Amino acid sequence: MKEKITDLAFFGGAPLFETPISTSNLVKPSLERFLNYSKVFYKNKKYTGRGELVVELEKRLCSFHETDYCVTFCSGFWALVGAIKNLALEGKSEVIMPSLTYRRLADVVSWAGLTPRFCEVDTKTLSISPKEVEKIINKETSLIIGVHPIVNCCDALGLEKISADYNIPLLFDTVESVYETYSGKKTGGFGDAECFSFHASKLINGFEGGYITTNDFSLYKKIMKFSCSDGNGHVGINGNLNEMHAAMALSGLDEINDNVAHNKKIYKLYSELFSKIRSVRVLEFDEKERTSYKNIVFELLPEWKIPRKKLIDILNKENILSRAYYYPPLHMKNARYKTIFGDLQKTEILSEKFILMPCGFFVKEEDVRKIYDLFLFIEKESSSLI
Ligand SMILES: *Cc1c(COP(=O)(O)O)cnc(C)c1O
Repeated sequence: MKEKITDLAFFGGAPLFETPISTSNLVKPSLERFLNYSKVFYKNKKYTGRGELVVELEKRLCSFHETDYCVTFCSGFWALVGAIKNLALEGKSEVIMPSLTYRRLADVVSWAGLTPRFCEVDTKTLSISPKEVEKIINKETSLIIGVHPIVNCCDALGLEKISADYNIPLLFDTVESVYETYSGKKTGGFGDAECFSFHASKLINGFEGGYITTNDFSLYKKIMKFSCSDGNGHVGINGNLNEMHAAMALSGLDEINDNVAHNKKIYKLYSELFSKIRSVRVLEFDEKERTSYKNIVFELLPEWKIPRKKLIDILNKENILSRAYYYPPLHMKNARYKTIFGDLQKTEILSEKFILMPCGFFVKEEDVRKIYDLFLFIEKESSSLI
């Protein structure tokens, strides 16, 4: 317990946690399960190039998301490039996407040879909305990327309507909403296609990897072709998922419900405890839908006096690896490629307000209690910490 301000690690005290606790999930499925799946590639002597485990994983993901098709990739990044390349309208140059989002998403669009046009976000969902998209659709719009935020979903049905009204393809980046439903329907089947990641920090840990789901057969064929270069003149990428990563992802998929049950316990405790601190709000999961309870995001309300950057420094010194939520927004970064944007005032204001807190597999209830006590202490001492 911290009693005086110099007990804070920021001022040289002992850190609250001996080993750092992370804002990433880092789920570790049972080793036995992973090794059991791994026997398949040992036996088959086929380690990559669409082996038995990759095929099984794609089948399992189709049933998990209730979609017709799934294609795995070596990363979420290349799954996104593959989807964009095969979906964007030919002869048009721009992709509408939010700026308050994943730090590499504009790079992905640029790799696909297109120009990001950043869209303002909705204040309530913190994500792209049909209203904001409609304002910036123009004759160069080749694709809309609906990115789900890290708590709950964006308005997928509203975006589908805009996409249909204007005849512009719609891709979802659903990396943060693997387990969610929207309006009662599982993610995976919205828009023309959806993209996911198996990066170790995500809900399903496949070390690295990604996949695309779709219900469109001709798109599926094109994406399959894109994912592997045949060396005979057809230009694809060498972007396959390997068997070992598929073994890890299959193990994670087997255990996903236990993982979510753990996340729910952690989220409930954060909500209960932090409801007693009036200057901080825990972003609420929409429990009318199915949800992963994975990410814990705090909003620092106007009553909270310590600047966010200082707070994050203080927490990091205690070995609590909190981070700012999607900061800086992409339009404020120095990109080496062209980007287009107008006034993004809401994005800029929102980008200053939120922090990510430790969550996922390795966070215990006892850790949440310690974090809560620390916040109480920091808040009490705010006047000397500003
Ligand atoms: C992590 C992430 C990606 C990229 O996935 P990788 O597998 O790491 O390439 C894309 N979009 C969002 C929203 C992400 O969080």
